[in-house]
Amino acid sequence: MSNPLLTPWATPYRLPPFDQIDSAHFRPAFETALARHRAEIDEIANNPSEPDFANTIEALERAGALLTDVGSVFWNLASTDTDPKLQEIERDMASALSRHSSEISMNAALFRRVEALHENRDSLDLTPEQRRVLELTYKNFVRAGARLNDEDKARLKSIMERLAELSTRFSQNVLADESSWLLLLDENDLDGLSADFRAAAAQIAADRGAPGKYAVTLARSSAETFLQTSTRRDLRETVFRAWASRGENGGETDNRQLIKEIVELRAQRAKLMGFESFADFKLDDTMAKTPRAVRELLDNLWTPALGRAAEERAQLQALADQEGATFAVTGHDWRYYAERVKKERYDLDQAALRPYFQLEKMTAAAFHVAERLFGLRFVEQKDLKLYHPDVRAFEVLDREGKHVALFLADYFARPSKRSGAWMSDFRSQHKLDGEVRPIIVNVMNFTKGADGAATLLSLDDARTLFHEFGHALHGMLSDVTFPLVSGTSVARDFVELPSQLYEHWLMEPEVLKQFALHAETGAPIPDDLLQRIADARHFNQGFAAVEFCASAYVDLHIHESGAPADFDASAFERQSLDSISMPEEIVMRHRLPHFSHVFSGDGYSAGYYSYLWAEVLDADAFAAFKETGDLFAPDVADRLRTFIYAAGGRQDAADAYVGFRGRMPTVEALLRQRGFAPANA
Ligand SMILES: [Zn+2]
Repeated sequence: MSNPLLTPWATPYRLPPFDQIDSAHFRPAFETALARHRAEIDEIANNPSEPDFANTIEALERAGALLTDVGSVFWNLASTDTDPKLQEIERDMASALSRHSSEISMNAALFRRVEALHENRDSLDLTPEQRRVLELTYKNFVRAGARLNDEDKARLKSIMERLAELSTRFSQNVLADESSWLLLLDENDLDGLSADFRAAAAQIAADRGAPGKYAVTLARSSAETFLQTSTRRDLRETVFRAWASRGENGGETDNRQLIKEIVELRAQRAKLMGFESFADFKLDDTMAKTPRAVRELLDNLWTPALGRAAEERAQLQALADQEGATFAVTGHDWRYYAERVKKERYDLDQAALRPYFQLEKMTAAAFHVAERLFGLRFVEQKDLKLYHPDVRAFEVLDREGKHVALFLADYFARPSKRSGAWMSDFRSQHKLDGEVRPIIVNVMNFTKGADGAATLLSLDDARTLFHEFGHALHGMLSDVTFPLVSGTSVARDFVELPSQLYEHWLMEPEVLKQFALHAETGAPIPDDLLQRIADARHFNQGFAAVEFCASAYVDLHIHESGAPADFDASAFERQSLDSISMPEEIVMRHRLPHFSHVFSGDGYSAGYYSYLWAEVLDADAFAAFKETGDLFAPDVADRLRTFIYAAGGRQDAADAYVGFRGRMPTVEALLRQRGFAPANA
């Protein structure tokens, strides 16, 4: 029987043949792909010719294409539509792939060729992108242990392999805690919940075998909406506790032991590489460069955020007291009273807003902004065979009707999908051997409208949609030659710029008037409601900043500390929060036992601050449009495309930003955006 993963894909857009792929195909496909990559690497390493850019760097870029194809299908499905079989393969492949990549980085003959080219880089007559790829390749080899002695290489290899296993288990545990939890409610438990929330909750309950009931899940859009609107303090507490204790419930899915081992191994890895801590090692590769720079940024926001949060807390307590509360507002009350205060002070509430934020229209808004800025058009393709019936596909075309990318939208929560929202690809752009255009996917966890009713979003959900669509554009507009620098392959603290910047357009009246249309009446959002949204934009920002910064500080602290012998994740978290005077009523946005950014792989480890770093950039970057008086100013949009969205990592992140804006921003833009700058600044 032939394996569809290993036969050339004769599908439209060369999509993976999802309808033919079975989980049993992955193991043999990985084996074949790994063997082929190994053979390709051997050929490069043992090439009798002197190393040159083409026979070494370019050849490395070309190698492993089959593994990339098989891996991208597998890892996307493992995140969005997993099952016990895929999870088992995922656990096994994590270490096998780690071993494989260590073998390549530690291949001495191969590294000698890369090193020789790197030494002679000035005399190789390279294009700027080639030179960048050579430098990055060299650096990646070094950071993966190419210059270590054999003993240290072996040690690093086993550390990396173990880390890969641990992070896989970490994410599987979080998913298990999330998908196994369900709060079933009766008719008389629904006080405060909107009609669309009730209908969706009834649908979830029916789907999960409890018809006639209403279900709250731990998907953020379900749990958070419940916490904002339910009048039932006891039920809010139940949901909040479940939400905050994912990964910390004892038993098989408890992540605290895994965290201890991950942190220890990361510290050892950093030591082997000659760094004082894992945070130092990790940040060496970013715009921020050092833990000190990260701490400075966080400190800039932290003090004003604490002050603002204290004011907010007093407002919430005053309202609760006014209603005769006999308790102090705490974690599971905050979102609820914040919504109430918002309603009182700004006459703004979820129930009034949600009907204006239909998923369908918000998607159209995201497409519209891309058309105005970059001339893109999106044409839905209904006949493609995709991996789940909820996924939609759009062909992306440029002004001349030329194919740019295929965009997949996978927007609804389901138990087989991990929580959160992200962008990923089934294929990334490059031009190594002719133009290869990307297939990009956006994954969300929205609660689906019941019985074919429009799916309604909160304003935060709509922002998330724009955020991930900004990442998607970074992948779709990519216009580079080499896979290594394609799309989102940029410094971690730069990668949130295209996504966060994109959120700004959603909040503009010009966009909202056109797309925020009432689900029942079709009427555009009224001006006075827009004004109230604008007036309330700084409301609860103290809370949001504290919630975020706390996670960023703890992420930094844990990766600077390097897990002493008596390390205990819960105690460490407590101690770390005490050291920054964390207010008791606010819980970190991501607590350690389910902090997937940091422990499901090391992408954002010692890197959660990246969102804030990029916010300094996005606040300043959007001002470039505002200053012209035209949200879509063509010349600014062209520079944005050239230096940011199309440029991938072909240049240093700071150079890319300066190319776009002519200078680097300062932290003031961020403070103003958050409403923390002095009134006259
Ligand atoms: Zn992002």
